Amino acid sequence: MNPAPDPRTPLLLVGHGTRSEAGVDQFLALVERIRRRAAFDDVEGGFIELSRPPLTDAVGALVERGRRRLVALPLVLAAAGHGKGDIPAALARERARQPGLTYAFGRPLGPHPLLHESLEQRIDDALAGDDRAGTWVALIGRGSTDPDANAEVVKVARLLWEGRGYAGVEAGFISLAEPSVPAVLDRLRRLGARRIVVAPYFLFAGVLPDRIAAQSAEFAAAHPDLDVRVAGLIGDCDALADLVLLRHAEALRGDIRMNCDTCAYRVALPGFLDKVGRPQTPHDHPDDPVGGHAHHHDGDAHQHDHGGHSHAHDHHHGPDHEPVLRPGQVAVVGGGPGPDDLITVRGRAMLDAADVVVTDRLAPRGLLDGLRPGVLVVDAAKVPRGPSMGQDAINDTLVRHARAGRRVVRLKGGDPYVFGRGHEEVQACAAAGVETVVVPGVTSAVAAPALAGVPVTHRGVAHEFTVASGHLPPGHPQSLVDWAALGRARGTLVLLMAVDTIDKIAAALVEHGRAPDTPAVIVEDAGHPTQRALPSRLDEVGALAAGVGVRPPAVFVIGPVAALD
Ligand code: SAH
Repeated sequence: MNPAPDPRTPLLLVGHGTRSEAGVDQFLALVERIRRRAAFDDVEGGFIELSRPPLTDAVGALVERGRRRLVALPLVLAAAGHGKGDIPAALARERARQPGLTYAFGRPLGPHPLLHESLEQRIDDALAGDDRAGTWVALIGRGSTDPDANAEVVKVARLLWEGRGYAGVEAGFISLAEPSVPAVLDRLRRLGARRIVVAPYFLFAGVLPDRIAAQSAEFAAAHPDLDVRVAGLIGDCDALADLVLLRHAEALRGDIRMNCDTCAYRVALPGFLDKVGRPQTPHDHPDDPVGGHAHHHDGDAHQHDHGGHSHAHDHHHGPDHEPVLRPGQVAVVGGGPGPDDLITVRGRAMLDAADVVVTDRLAPRGLLDGLRPGVLVVDAAKVPRGPSMGQDAINDTLVRHARAGRRVVRLKGGDPYVFGRGHEEVQACAAAGVETVVVPGVTSAVAAPALAGVPVTHRGVAHEFTVASGHLPPGHPQSLVDWAALGRARGTLVLLMAVDTIDKIAAALVEHGRAPDTPAVIVEDAGHPTQRALPSRLDEVGALAAGVGVRPPAVFVIGPVAALD
């Protein structure tokens, strides 16, 4: 277990930057306010572009004070381009600059009741005592090419409508999405509205809130019969400061309940199919200077770095890597020989990305506990000679989920290509037009001996090792193993799946020339608390296995390495 996170972990607020001086002042005033209200000392704020101080300076200030572990919060209302792409990318660059820097990445601020209450207050201020029942509200969001972000503005509109006694609340957008400000005002007019409060869903002043006010004024001028008022912005206030501190605490606990179910980068949404699995790319927003983000992007690939995945981990996957697993792909992943921490880093990343995990009996079980909530786990329990799903059924499962656009991980014990049928599944996927990636694993053929202290090679002792399957005994018509050759060999022989055949195999090896007193060791349940390592010799190992009741999974190591101290 990790130690409990320190609730005084410094806070780094990351803004996107604005050309509005008033907006910058409000941001910095909020940082001050949070400093006063926080139960800890270190709060810094910086911008990823356009405004001062730049993020680099804010991080630098914290690092200079010896801070290495931070909570980084994007000061954005909804997760869109800035929260999913630009800010994580900027943080990744800071991390590359500052060795040892780690951070937990928090989620965007909204939606949250504290924000809705501030909006309600701003609307009340605009109403100046006029009644709510005769008032329609036009809640105007920034607008995004990300449908999820737009949907969130609609959700906030609905939440504002609930229980507050307004005639109604409709959502609109100042850029990149419909309905526009004039369109939503016109809609309300047609619904019979006489009084409308335009409420910008914006934190701070900027070019876009100014534009909302201008367009509202223009519409009001064209419709003298309507009473159109514009409410203030959320701005620097206690409610916002408190919400930031809530997000700080939440990020520290690793409790980032971001909704990924409607994220265009993860789920195929109509009209946005091209986004699925793609890096999140910068776009020129009307609030950006001419030339967009060019001055700070340095041509980086911008990746949608999803706060929702990172949970308690540091947010270090992302912009500097390719997406690990795309929707519609199957990753055939080696889980290692048993203990949860003998999977590879890449294998672990695949599991973090998975929507569906198809696992089997020997795959490390504990890994399944670490999956994101909501991941579908299919157990392909392949008990030897017991009831089995059958390989065809497993292949079908993989293909079906991949075709449905899910990220599928086929998790196997050890290495997927060592007696793991991994390639059969890859072939089946290929035949169905499904792309695969293979992630090698630590095979029990090498790891089980190692975990029992037995090296498969040793200088001056063994210069070769052979891995053979014992699932068919010598002489079996379907056997592909040249047991006679192995009997003549002198290196290390590692036998998998040989619990039921070891006596016949040992006899065949002796018959073909291997010395009866060749050292042998049985390693059962390698890496688990139940691990047993039983030393023996070739002519006795079969009787020993039967005598002490060795059960799969076990490997047999035969050769002089088995007797090394
Ligand atoms: N792909 C797997 C092997 C699958 S065959 C790998 O690379 O490890 C299954 C056999 O692996 C078992 O019968 C046993 O011989 C061996 N095995 C797997 N896990 C093991 C463990 N923890 N301890 C001992 N043997 C193990």
